Amino acid sequence: MASAVLGARLVIASQGHYSVIPAIADGLHIEFENVSEAVERIVADASREPFDAIVASDDLTLEVATRAAAALGLPHNPLSAVCAARRKDLARDALRAAGLPVPRFRCLNLTQPLAPQISDLDYPCVMKPLAMAASRGVIRVDSSDELQRMLPRVAAIVAEAVTSDERERVLVESFLPGAEIAIEGLLSDGRLQVLAVFDKPEPLDGPFFEESYYITPSRLPTPLLERAVERLVQACAAYGLREGPVHGELRLHEGEAWVLEIAARTIGGDCARLLSFGAGRSLEELVLRHALGWPLDLNPRDGAAGVLMIPTPGAGTLRRVEGVLAAQQVPGIDDLMIWVREGYELVPLPEGGTYLGFMFAHAETPDEVESALREAHACLNIVIAPSLPVISVAS
Ligand code: ADP
Ligand code: CA
Repeated sequence: MASAVLGARLVIASQGHYSVIPAIADGLHIEFENVSEAVERIVADASREPFDAIVASDDLTLEVATRAAAALGLPHNPLSAVCAARRKDLARDALRAAGLPVPRFRCLNLTQPLAPQISDLDYPCVMKPLAMAASRGVIRVDSSDELQRMLPRVAAIVAEAVTSDERERVLVESFLPGAEIAIEGLLSDGRLQVLAVFDKPEPLDGPFFEESYYITPSRLPTPLLERAVERLVQACAAYGLREGPVHGELRLHEGEAWVLEIAARTIGGDCARLLSFGAGRSLEELVLRHALGWPLDLNPRDGAAGVLMIPTPGAGTLRRVEGVLAAQQVPGIDDLMIWVREGYELVPLPEGGTYLGFMFAHAETPDEVESALREAHACLNIVIAPSLPVISVAS
């Protein structure tokens, strides 16, 4: 959509055999898993009509987009930087090598005996998959007993990963206490422009770490936020990221900012809808303009905005969501979307990782935004029927 507003010609390379949105874009069929063939196809298409920019839409498409941009001589991040942004173990290595604050960390090899690998760990720790998102498989454990009890759950989750490294290894790192923020930024030739800083006001102490409220601007003290931006800039340099959008997540503790992760993309899901810049440009539009080397107006909209990624309250079959109308009528609420349809299975974290829906709000101040979202959330009654166990009867 952003490209239509922009007036640029768009070609969408996707796994679909047709364009995702044929009305406004041509389509190019690629398979994400066959990276070299996908790159060849994009390069071949560019020989018919050259591209001015290649933009990845998410983590899955970053490698293909980066390699294709490299092949065509277009601005791009080094592949090693894109890999560090995707793989949490490589990211931790890069931050440590650059002397940035990092928790103690280590990779557990699931194919090897566990006891010697965990004998000297300090608790609490956080176990996490090397390359997943939305906090899937991320679990805090407070003792070695708990680690051993929970590890099979993480192992079952990472068993779905694409590469053998990602299936056989789990990262374990010290739990960092403190407030969590997210920073949305745009890199141009290594220089970071901050587009928004979000508070995550709900305590994220585990054992699972469900995303919920994102509120911008942040209400944390300016010196702490400046420290966070400084660390994010250093961390981007440590990964080698130089171009395009970044979404950083950091923990703030005792005056220091610890990078949890940096993704080389914009904020996920529908959350980007929260932000608008200059004369009402969307974040996606900004990213496309930046990729094309066009001028940007980065002034954010006045006031405060927020989103609630509606948490999944339990496991089972979604029967219905009551109170949607009342929630929508809470002053400040702009939009409320329930994504999961009635009859669908809800799977909470750590195995799940999808949101029930999204709720957007804006107001004068971040406090008002947060209150509106909390009030609207309290209007919702999410009715779930327990899933019946499947019993197979041999006869
Ligand atoms: P994902 O890529 O799945 O989002 P993250 O590494 O961002 O995984 O972890 C998800 C959440 O888990 C974080 O937002 C944070 O709340 C929590 N978390 C992860 N690592 C740590 C840590 N070392 N200390 C404290 N909390 C952590
Ligand atoms: Ca994250």
